[in-house]
Amino acid sequence: MKCELISVGTELLVGDTLNTNVQYLSRELSLLGIRVYFHTTVGDNPNRLEEAVRIAFNRSDLIITTGGLGPTQDDLTKEVIAKLFKRELIQDEKTKEDLLQYFANREFTMTPNNLKQTFIPETAEILFNPCGTAPGILLKEQGRVIIMLPGPPREMTRVFEDAVLPLLKQDNQQLVISRYYNLSDIGESATEDRLLDLIDAQVNPTIATYAKMGEVLVRITANGRDENEVNTLLDHYQEIMLSRFKENIFSFSKESLQETVCKLLLEKRISVATAESCTGGLIASQLTEYPGISMVFGTGLVTYSNEAKINLLGVKKETLDTYGAVSAETAREMCENLQKISQSMLSVSVTGIAGPEGGSEKKPVGLVYIGVCFNELTDVYHYHFNGERKVVQQKTANKVFHLIRK
Ligand code: ATP
Ligand code: MG
Repeated sequence: MKCELISVGTELLVGDTLNTNVQYLSRELSLLGIRVYFHTTVGDNPNRLEEAVRIAFNRSDLIITTGGLGPTQDDLTKEVIAKLFKRELIQDEKTKEDLLQYFANREFTMTPNNLKQTFIPETAEILFNPCGTAPGILLKEQGRVIIMLPGPPREMTRVFEDAVLPLLKQDNQQLVISRYYNLSDIGESATEDRLLDLIDAQVNPTIATYAKMGEVLVRITANGRDENEVNTLLDHYQEIMLSRFKENIFSFSKESLQETVCKLLLEKRISVATAESCTGGLIASQLTEYPGISMVFGTGLVTYSNEAKINLLGVKKETLDTYGAVSAETAREMCENLQKISQSMLSVSVTGIAGPEGGSEKKPVGLVYIGVCFNELTDVYHYHFNGERKVVQQKTANKVFHLIRK
């Protein structure tokens, strides 16, 4: 099946909005084995939009448009396509009910122009939009399929996943399976570098990497006639992943590093406490994002000043005077004393220079010491993180979660 994507919106042409819809759809369709041959972007102009659809219709079996389904004057995708294929726009009662309900639920007053969204080309199928007011629309014409999706990415992905994907999967004779590998302590470019041979040669399976702060998610997707064939392909790649990223893989799902660590602490009933300086409570905050963590997490101190380190944690004044607050010695005392105070099995301390000021030649911005004390044994690690203040803090927190997992 040959597919073409048409992105509608002047904001895309003039560079105000990055076209993320086209990236998302291309990826999803490719994973299904559907060949995406053309991307067209066109402004909110009826004549040029009609031309784009006409051209797509002559060379593609499946056309998916995004944008221009809303209530305003410049939203005209549906109107243009209905006219081109000689369909009347007819008000759909169910869509009208849904729309009224949408506004009632939010206690918003509906302006009359919203009713425009309840008119659907005759013979078309309605693709319900649970997060917005404009539904998607599917129209069949001369053996080809035209699907119109709303522009806002959140709405587009939801309608695609709920209503379009099942239809495409039904038509698809191939079985498609993805496996996920979530990596920490490695960047996206280093990950890609280690996979370059596979990425360059990729046909089946395909490899995609998604970077988040401190994590890289690798998705490997294979297709074939049956489960056996697909799993054989995936098993081979799994061996490669395990041999190249043994130290980095923390989960075989999309689960974040923080979630994985919290789960692990709960499963093993390891009580944990934190004493943070340069991260100002970020680690404690990320721990408490996980529901139920109170079973194992009881104490999270922010000891930002020297006084707090002395008064709350019992760090010796001499230690601070001799080695400074940002030192291995201070980190060690912080976490060893914390362990005694909190009576937890695992205690973690952090002290560093997040910047932009406060660095020196001996102790540059980004220098961070992390103390980890587990069952009376203390290890102190030191790192030098690059980046602005927030990045240094986030990298420190990620490193702490990485160390806990180990
Ligand atoms: P609305 O009901 O919000 O008017 P719509 O279906 O008419 O939705 P548009 O008006 O074309 O869609 O776009 C709405 C917003 O969605 C745009 O301002 C833009 O921020 C975003 N958007 C539209 N198309 C894309 C795209 N291809 N990629 C990323 N964002 C997009
Ligand atoms: Mg709009």
